[in-house]
Amino acid sequence: MATLVKLRPVIDRLGKCGLPVRFYQFVEQRMAVERGGSDQDEVGGLFTNTLKLSPETLAGLTADVPGGASQHAVHTMFHEGTHAYLILKKADPEVARLLMYGREHYRNTRLEDGSLAKDPDRITHEAAADYVGGRAAGWWEARVDMTAARRDLPPPEDALLRQIGEIVNAVRKIPQRYNKKMGEAVFGYQQGIFGNQIHTKVRIPARLKEFCDRVILEGKIPDDFRRVKAFEKDYLELLKLVKPLEVAPRLKRGA
Ligand SMILES: [Zn+2]
Repeated sequence: MATLVKLRPVIDRLGKCGLPVRFYQFVEQRMAVERGGSDQDEVGGLFTNTLKLSPETLAGLTADVPGGASQHAVHTMFHEGTHAYLILKKADPEVARLLMYGREHYRNTRLEDGSLAKDPDRITHEAAADYVGGRAAGWWEARVDMTAARRDLPPPEDALLRQIGEIVNAVRKIPQRYNKKMGEAVFGYQQGIFGNQIHTKVRIPARLKEFCDRVILEGKIPDDFRRVKAFEKDYLELLKLVKPLEVAPRLKRGA
């Protein structure tokens, strides 16, 4: 017997943290969510589609880490949610046009093993799912890093030189890492005859990226860290806390 999963509390919590979850609320109201087998994260089924999340993913979504979910679990959850959303919306004219466009875009393109793409529909689906999953995870990573830095910041008078350097560095690197992650552009794969994944070498088409950014990600995960509204206040505050620490080592050396 399949075990149904109540995903709503997780969706609500991630939404409160600032992640775009409107599309997930839509999915959750229309598709059964079940606990899959080990490593079984997928959307499938003979007659009606079911969203399956593995015990590993479900555990990661309620893990005892900052924010209450691991980056990897957020990636998987958003990846599968995107498949589910596109399946539920496939009759919607915009989605139908987009999927057709994707098919033409990836048809007969080169794959990583040198062969030509035979399943452009699958590649389109996987490209959208991986794009959305990757961005949600990258956003989540930045959020978690900011929370962790804040928690670990010592008061200036107690701070050890090495400790300060590490934290200041970590804080400075948050935007850099975010921007690098959001600059990734190649996503999607088709299944090989052994069930293996053969990845595409082709960039995600601008139209598919634009749709994912606007409709699924609600414009909340832009390419540039400085344009993430949800981070603005928190990051400025963090920089303010870090500033006096950056001065501290120089004072110590001078002493
Ligand atoms: Zn997938």
